[in-house]
Amino acid sequence: MTHELIEKSKRYLWLPFTQMKDYDRDPLIIESGNGMKVKDIHGKEYYDGFSSVWLNVHGHRKKELDEAIKNQLEKIAHSTLLGMTNVPATELAETLINISPEKLTRVFYSDSGAEAMEIALKMAFQYWKNIGRTEKQKFISMQNGYHGDTVGAVSVGSIELFHHVYGPLMFESYKAPIPYLYRSEAESHAQCSDEHLEILEQILIEHHHEIAALSIESMVQGAAGMIVMPEGFLSGVRALCTKYEVLMIVDEVATGFGRTGKMFACEHEQVQPDLMAAGKGITGGYLPIAATFTTEDIYDAFYDDYATLKTFFHGHSYTGNQLGCTVAIENLRLFESEGIIEQVARNTEDLRLLLTELDSLTHVGEVRQLGFMCGVELVQSKETKLAFPAEKRVGYHVSLKMRELGMLTRPMGDVIIFMPPLASEREELEAMVMIMKEAIDEVTSDVL
Ligand SMILES: *Cc1c(COP(=O)(O)O)cnc(C)c1O
Repeated sequence: MTHELIEKSKRYLWLPFTQMKDYDRDPLIIESGNGMKVKDIHGKEYYDGFSSVWLNVHGHRKKELDEAIKNQLEKIAHSTLLGMTNVPATELAETLINISPEKLTRVFYSDSGAEAMEIALKMAFQYWKNIGRTEKQKFISMQNGYHGDTVGAVSVGSIELFHHVYGPLMFESYKAPIPYLYRSEAESHAQCSDEHLEILEQILIEHHHEIAALSIESMVQGAAGMIVMPEGFLSGVRALCTKYEVLMIVDEVATGFGRTGKMFACEHEQVQPDLMAAGKGITGGYLPIAATFTTEDIYDAFYDDYATLKTFFHGHSYTGNQLGCTVAIENLRLFESEGIIEQVARNTEDLRLLLTELDSLTHVGEVRQLGFMCGVELVQSKETKLAFPAEKRVGYHVSLKMRELGMLTRPMGDVIIFMPPLASEREELEAMVMIMKEAIDEVTSDVL
């Protein structure tokens, strides 16, 4: 039975972001989950050390979330949001607006983070058109940014490894550099931040008249390797966008819903975006719902008689799905009743202490953390910060070793990603960090 399933998986499937030759060598099929662990078809259990790719909040099979979906199923599973709405999509919109930054007063649903970003880009583009500023058609994006894998989202991204193949398909955007403290020569966080803001300002001085919006991840560049922005940077970007009349699109897909110890990471810097994309944790990791938030000013620019053709011409079949919206409502209710934000804020310090365990390892260059979003950069030499040769695939081999030891996570190059479910207890965090330590130690001492 298990053997047959594995054969079928190799014969019929094609997995995302996966070299299938790697999969065929080390297949893995998950059958169930409970709390912070998932179980494969052989009965082996693993800690979900990456929250099933940055999604999970309360653990798997959370009773209240399961119940919410079952109850909704007694009513209806799905009806469309094109030209009409449904009960949970409407209730959820109010909840989302109540917890989001004040200036954001409208929510537009979709099914994935990439779509939420596409929508933000198209809204920004059309906003200027609708108000008669047709010269504003370009974007500024951040180096090493990641906003998802659809063509528009990739165009404002810049992870070389993902993006060089598709270059000819993309629209161009101006790329602004982003501070990367570990590899910067700057003497202080403030200096590093200021230098980068100056470069951004130069781009704005030259091009602001043709720029519709700037896109940026909120506080942490996740896929770039958990690169945490220095204090003052995000709010500095906000100030520049305002000064040069450029809309600010903040990507909270990874950082939103408590991941960094605030409901949204832009709260760390009291930033009010013009557009904000969210997804991932919105349903507690249960169902695909995403949301683009925007201001009343932007909404108003689309509100007119049909004949003016100011309508936002965008939508997806499953937008506003009732099961997804219902579980999102219940997820957010649990954020309140179980004090998830406070819990993450409280456990962040414990987790920081636990992670210092890794500092003593020969090949750990830097441990980065904002709340429950952590990255461990592995290097060949701590002194020179020299990276391992890419072809050694050190991060990949560490993740395979962790799997053997009972924890799942996916690296970004040689940065080990650690994003436990937000409700993880101290003992669980400790067990996960120990597995990470053992795997890093074993694999890196073998490499050279
Ligand atoms: C995951 C992610 C996305 C894309 O979300 P999907 O749901 O995978 O399409 C976009 N932006 C950031 C910052 C992400 O981490």
